[in-house]
Amino acid sequence: METKIIQLHLDGKELSEKDKTSLKKAGHVLREGGLVAFPTETVYGLGGNALNGESSRRIYAAKGRPSDNPLIVHICRFEDIYSITKIVPEGARKLAQAFWPGPLTMILPKSDKVPYETTGGLETVAVRMPSHPAAREMIACAGGYVAAPSANASGRPSPTTALHVAEDMLGKIDMIVDGGPVGIGLESTIVDLTVSPPQILRPGYITKAMLEEVLGCVEEDPAPGEQKSGQSPRAPGMKYRHYAPRGELIIVEGAKKKVIDFINARAAQDMAEGKRIGVIGTKEAVSLYRADVVKSVGSRENEEEIAACLYAVLREFDRDKVSRIYSESFEAQGLGQAIMNRLLKAAGYRVEKAAGDASETETQGGQGEI
Ligand code: AMP
Ligand code: MG
Repeated sequence: METKIIQLHLDGKELSEKDKTSLKKAGHVLREGGLVAFPTETVYGLGGNALNGESSRRIYAAKGRPSDNPLIVHICRFEDIYSITKIVPEGARKLAQAFWPGPLTMILPKSDKVPYETTGGLETVAVRMPSHPAAREMIACAGGYVAAPSANASGRPSPTTALHVAEDMLGKIDMIVDGGPVGIGLESTIVDLTVSPPQILRPGYITKAMLEEVLGCVEEDPAPGEQKSGQSPRAPGMKYRHYAPRGELIIVEGAKKKVIDFINARAAQDMAEGKRIGVIGTKEAVSLYRADVVKSVGSRENEEEIAACLYAVLREFDRDKVSRIYSESFEAQGLGQAIMNRLLKAAGYRVEKAAGDASETETQGGQGEI
């Protein structure tokens, strides 16, 4: 299949008339049952008509995604939520008022209009209203309901540029809408409103504290390391290894100097054995690492920058063909929680503690800690 690439010329945040014509074409492809990758404020999405089971099947096939891993339905007007859900509780209305359009996905009981192919066989549906102007225009042109997981091949880091999408999807989908690099760089926060108190199934840009300000009490789905045996995460997607670079990724925790020494010692040992080694560091420390490829993921002072760069850095390591990557660790608070969640999944939860004084290594994050 030939994949058509459409370039947008977003003027600041506004769509030009030419962009609107392009997005109308994209909407037409979606109405016909085709697949279109498009920019959102979080990551690029792989869109299909959410109300057409066959389109959802095509999304799973293009991504190589297991079909029990449900898709998020994207809407462009709040009132459209009523036709795809059975109940919209007060909490959902409040959250929409506070955070929509934006990087928040809500899980609600689905209506009969939503096919089981879209929800991975579940009775619930994930709904989000993105804020990216191109996404919203395209959803409107497509008829209002676009199912879209991230536009990466299953298991690969989510795409934050159209080039990333092309790496994974060229020849497999009908169209890629290139709107330049995305803003946030990590997938939306997912909150389940079918349980009481509501539960965060995936951390994201909208943090627990922000949700609690609107809802009062909010719980978190336990991280895989904390789950009882036999228990699996409630967002089916969170059980799969994900966001993963091709090289083995190891996160190193501890005090800043200990982490640098630990990584340099391990890298030297690995390189002596003939391995090609990468390091993911922060701007403040990258000049101190000695390895084949050292990349900065941004400043420790600026978590938004780290979120925006993380997936691109993981993908770059694939091009550099390293067999092992060591990464600094981040404080799991606020946006840092989403960053660590994705990094841990990419590493298959492999974490090593830089040896040293226990008081220095046990505290995560904080001043002088990485
Ligand atoms: P992606 O769009 O690639 O970020 O993946 C969507 C995420 O939303 C996956 O982790 C899914 O498991 C999760 N998800 C979608 N629908 C539901 C649902 N009805 N219940 C729980 N999790 C969901
Ligand atoms: Mg995804």
